[in-house]
Amino acid sequence: MTAPNENLYSLFESRFPADRSRPFLEIPGGKTWSYADLKAESGRIANRLRALGVTPGERVAVQVEKSPEALFLYLACLRAGAIYLPLNTAYKAGEIGYFLGDSEPRVFVCDPAAEAEARDLAEKSGVAHVETLGADGTGSLTEGAAAEGSDCETAPAKADDIAAILYTSGTTGRSKGAMLSHGNLASNALVLHEAWGFEPSDVLLHALPIYHTHGLFVATNTVLLNGTAMIFLAKFDPRQVMDLLPRATVFMGVPTLYVRLLEQEDFGAETCRAMRLFVAGSAPLLPQTFEEFSARTGHTVLERYGMTEAGMITSNPLRGERIAGKVGPPLPGVQARVADENGNILKTGEVGILEIKGPNVFKGYWRMPEKTAEEFRPDGFFITGDMAVIDEDGYVAIVGRSKDLVISGGFNVYPKEVELAIDALPGVLESAVIGLAHKDFGEGVTAVVKVEAGAALDEAGIIAAIKDELAMFKVPKRVFFIDELPRNAMGKVQKNALRERYAGTYDSSGGR
Ligand code: AMP
Repeated sequence: MTAPNENLYSLFESRFPADRSRPFLEIPGGKTWSYADLKAESGRIANRLRALGVTPGERVAVQVEKSPEALFLYLACLRAGAIYLPLNTAYKAGEIGYFLGDSEPRVFVCDPAAEAEARDLAEKSGVAHVETLGADGTGSLTEGAAAEGSDCETAPAKADDIAAILYTSGTTGRSKGAMLSHGNLASNALVLHEAWGFEPSDVLLHALPIYHTHGLFVATNTVLLNGTAMIFLAKFDPRQVMDLLPRATVFMGVPTLYVRLLEQEDFGAETCRAMRLFVAGSAPLLPQTFEEFSARTGHTVLERYGMTEAGMITSNPLRGERIAGKVGPPLPGVQARVADENGNILKTGEVGILEIKGPNVFKGYWRMPEKTAEEFRPDGFFITGDMAVIDEDGYVAIVGRSKDLVISGGFNVYPKEVELAIDALPGVLESAVIGLAHKDFGEGVTAVVKVEAGAALDEAGIIAAIKDELAMFKVPKRVFFIDELPRNAMGKVQKNALRERYAGTYDSSGGR
């Protein structure tokens, strides 16, 4: 007897609707792709990747705009047994150079406008092939795929084989590639599909980027398991979302998207009349957003908590109380506990670092065995780095981060990386980067800088100088100048003191 294929695509395919002409994707303007189209298009692209010499386990790095074809490329990588490596579209050349050098992909798929730069970077890193894919689905990748047949055998895979690598920002400024296996992704998708009660009549309105775990895995994989349709938007635009919500039943967003919707005066119960479920996560949903959303629409947002390394970890219940400021109990199959820095397990109600274990937890950081070992306890629990408390009902609340991670608009920014970029500017002596409460973004990246006496540096100049080097979401929204950074006895910059001093920066129109 042959072992079942544990390739994630095979699981999806086993759940596709019997009638393959049923819709999978629809984009504004009415163009649709059925499940039969999904199969044919992903098959052609998988065959093209194979023709380029991609073999199972090899990486395919992708930095492209969101499009149906980009999603088919993800599925094609699964089918070819390749490791899908999506990159944030905001990353600049310096960052991409690092990812290509570190992951050594066989193919790099980029936006047509970035082709010349991509070829240059690919050559330096020894990447064999550069292909292009534009926002409208055209480019060398789809041209090449069009010449291929659509029949494609899905590569055999074991649950432990790596399906994707997603880079997370590193605390030391170096990004780490989180290796997620077919089994990790399958278990999390199955659990969420069940926990959130997906139904045959569901239609998901997809307005998230697809280079991040939220839009790529949480939203897309649950729909694929459900065999139903999604309305797929290139970007989040509150007016467009409001126009389409009456045709949708499920929406997933980072908290910023909910804030944006609530800014629309005419957003309310009428717009949400067909909706079954609103899910929020990737950053804390402020209790006032939760309350206002409920008052305006009659819907209680379901907040869940997760991270790149583990997919979804906890979720407020579908049936049962959804509590503002809490992220719910661990999902079925996931164990969670709170411990101190040394790994001593703390009691219910005590604040400490959240540690987790389960089939969703990643296989480690790409080519960083030591870093991986540091983040796991001997009994297999992963140290999330999030400060949390678990109450008597088992609900988890995330109260902060043990490291100084800033989350702005749902994107993680590790201060160290931004500090290094600022410190490299002529005239800068040192800097500290902190996150400050921001109405729209959750937190606003903020720099506090000490400069040489007489240095001709101003706020706009510093922002302009690092804009070319760092993705926009990492660039500070405000830069303050200081004579001395406050430090403790150990010489460590006291970021808490800075956060207190500049608190309220983004309370009014003063913040950008
Ligand atoms: P990422 O790997 O980009 O998904 O970021 C993961 C981090 O986002 C987690 O470690 C948390 O710090 C944060 N996060 C995700 N969801 C929530 C939530 N619902 N509440 C608070 N923080 C969250």
